[in-house]
Amino acid sequence: MIYLDNNATTRLDPQVAEAIRRVWDLGPLNPSSQHRAGRQARNLLDEAISELGRCLGADVDSPGGDSLVLTSGGTEANNLAVLGIGDASGPLVISALEHPSVLEPARAAARAGREVRLIPLTSNGRIDLAAARELIVERSPRPALVSVMSANNETGVIQPLAELAGICRKAAVPLHVDATQTVGKMPLDFAALGLAALSAAAHKFHGPAGIGLLLVRSGVPLRSALLGGEQQLGKRAGTEPVGLAVGMATALTIALQQLDASATLMGQCRERLETGLLGDFPELVIHGVSAPRLAGTTCISFPGADRQAMLMALDIAGVACSSGSACASGSSRPSHVLAAMGVAGELIDTALRFGFSRFSTTDDADRAVELISRQYRRLREKLVVENSRV
Ligand code: PLP
Repeated sequence: MIYLDNNATTRLDPQVAEAIRRVWDLGPLNPSSQHRAGRQARNLLDEAISELGRCLGADVDSPGGDSLVLTSGGTEANNLAVLGIGDASGPLVISALEHPSVLEPARAAARAGREVRLIPLTSNGRIDLAAARELIVERSPRPALVSVMSANNETGVIQPLAELAGICRKAAVPLHVDATQTVGKMPLDFAALGLAALSAAAHKFHGPAGIGLLLVRSGVPLRSALLGGEQQLGKRAGTEPVGLAVGMATALTIALQQLDASATLMGQCRERLETGLLGDFPELVIHGVSAPRLAGTTCISFPGADRQAMLMALDIAGVACSSGSACASGSSRPSHVLAAMGVAGELIDTALRFGFSRFSTTDDADRAVELISRQYRRLREKLVVENSRV
């Protein structure tokens, strides 16, 4: 199978699997226990957290410094941030391209009476900065929190974070960034951007599924969502998974060491896929193509071919891709992101997402072009025959 669904999840790097296995082989490890095994667990956990902090440009080692809260993944980190940072009765600003793990808590807050303001998108898939400025700086009262993602999981379009962070800084409004799609793929400096909080998930950068993080700037209060334990300074109750934390730190360190080479390879793979497909079918539409995009991600509409039918045909042919955001795959909900970009209904209904990783090869890309072209041609011919019978 040619796996082109790396925005949904990535394969575990064998070196990361080995690092996790070494920790698990040590025996029972609960960092809250007071015996020798517990102290060993605490040391391993603290080291993993320090390493993650260094990788992300945060100071998690100084007393009173930034805090790194381990979560079960990106969804939990986003829920924790959106519902747990800033005055819960103050306005919340999010954008139209957010992942459901930001949209849904925001909708729940709106149903409970909180004001939620939505930053619109421009047609290239980036947030509209002028509208963001209006919603954050000019509209009264000032928001309690702004939450925007760093790059979109469907189109790969990279958001103007530095500019948005500047707007938030001037307005003294905390900014949470859902960096689930960029951590391990692009350089990121938490302190330099002056972020209040940042979410990430290990399984997006060849780490284990089941662990993520919420980085919270020093002095930013966080309301806990879980009750019943004093772990992680009371910010997230529950025994910490030491092996997974070590796995996440190892995965991020490796990803950052290979950042440039990986971006080059993923860029080459995408370039071959896009040019190959456009060569065969110039009518294909690539979304967000005029904006900066994550190196390995492309979202393409195949006019005349329903995306679910195309996805299934490709699956049988040996290409794994996605017809929406990872969490909506399996369902046929149309993309809210493409809709917010003003993309026409027919193009939304025929859009598929392909994502390469550093384990992809240019041969994968070339072979994918052949298989996708063949299935697209077949589906379109079938449609012509069906239409001629009507
Ligand atoms: N945020 C973004 C941008 C994502 O792409 C995803 C997953 O697809 C999430 C959040 C949720 O992460 P997780 O699946 O680790 O809960």
